[in-house]
Amino acid sequence: MVGFAAASLLAAGLLTSCAPEPGPDPSTPEPSGKPSPTPDAESPAPETSAPDANAFDKTAYSIDDSDSIWVIVNKLRPLNPQSYAPTDLVVPNVASTNGQPLRAVAATATEEMVAAAAADGVALHIVSAYRDYDTQVSVYGSFVANQGQAYADTTSARPGHSEHQTGLTADFGGDDDCTLDTCFADTAAGTWLQKRAAEFGFTMRYPDGAEGTTGYHFEPWHYRYVGVALAQELRAQDVATLEEFFGLQAAPDYAG
Ligand SMILES: [Zn+2]
Repeated sequence: MVGFAAASLLAAGLLTSCAPEPGPDPSTPEPSGKPSPTPDAESPAPETSAPDANAFDKTAYSIDDSDSIWVIVNKLRPLNPQSYAPTDLVVPNVASTNGQPLRAVAATATEEMVAAAAADGVALHIVSAYRDYDTQVSVYGSFVANQGQAYADTTSARPGHSEHQTGLTADFGGDDDCTLDTCFADTAAGTWLQKRAAEFGFTMRYPDGAEGTTGYHFEPWHYRYVGVALAQELRAQDVATLEEFFGLQAAPDYAG
């Protein structure tokens, strides 16, 4: 009954590419050349103006609220207040150099990510996670004291401007000699993170070649939790930085 089925599909207008055009329906009068009357009121309206249900909602979370998982902190966007401290810090149950905490949602994601890496035979641990305002004062201060402010500003955030102070950021290390070194990018841990971190809601925040936007040298170990949806969207759109994704001003340096 193939012929019958094909004829039925033709009648229903479902065969469009491979089937010959159906001949004119003898019951339909030839076009007279006059403009068509108003469209049949029962015809469905074209859907071209309907919003795309799959479009990514860039307003789902605030990028300004320090408590938001999408908060964007850079040299031009300090935390508000600059002494901000999260209230839901927990220590992730993973190997860690100094046991620093993360916000609960990022801690859980880190535990799942480290477990997934281990399942792939890749050792991953936290080198550094949440640092409070006072700690950042001393970290930044020591960079300035040892290497000067100009260098310090490309390497360490001024207090109130550090992603580590959000509680959503961790520096990761592996079982290699590339801790906090750009060679981490090519290690087993570094390559695993580049491939899989987005599945757990993390994005490499200071990618290679983006210093003019982020204000920081390439840091292949520094990952920021933004949630799975945004991390995956950044990848899908091949957008390197949060600043570009949200159309923000590049932040190569402090305003003053
Ligand atoms: Zn970091």
